[in-house]
Amino acid sequence: MSISQELKNRNQDLCELCNAEAATVEYTVSPKNDELIENQVAICETCLKAMEDKESGFHWRCLEGSIWSPYASVQALSFRILNQFKKEAWAGDLISSVDLDESTIQWALSAFEVKDVHKDAFGNVLETGDNVVLTQALNVKGTNFTASKGTVVKKIKLVHDNAEQIEGKINDQVIVILTKFVKKG
Ligand SMILES: [Zn+2]
Repeated sequence: MSISQELKNRNQDLCELCNAEAATVEYTVSPKNDELIENQVAICETCLKAMEDKESGFHWRCLEGSIWSPYASVQALSFRILNQFKKEAWAGDLISSVDLDESTIQWALSAFEVKDVHKDAFGNVLETGDNVVLTQALNVKGTNFTASKGTVVKKIKLVHDNAEQIEGKINDQVIVILTKFVKKG
């Protein structure tokens, strides 16, 4: 992994999170993906590993320093990691003592937004294996068959890349159904 000298210069070649080890990784704080220096944090291998391993709360006491960084990207990343440990007293205290911009907090917390939640016509969350009932008659594409309102579709599957679609069997045929036409059974 490479890291720009410009980014390293921000913290004298040290990791902007732990301030202890050499910065070797250019980390872009999602959901930003353009590699502008203001979206990046210079981090070390240890911090990168600790981020992947969510159980290393002890390591993250270093955020008590980094959260006060003048750079929004470092604040956002620090806040994001802290938020994972907010049930621990030290992290909870720190979260309540900092005064970050609303936009930075939003940036930090955007990592926790759950995307692509499948919901039925009434807003109930659908999961693979659920049974649903059709809330209106549906023409089944490619057949002459119409599934009547009230038809029970058992053990649906969620369509992964589309939160508006599920798959289910009607008349022994697997079809794609729009979530807005079903009710969780
Ligand atoms: Zn580090």
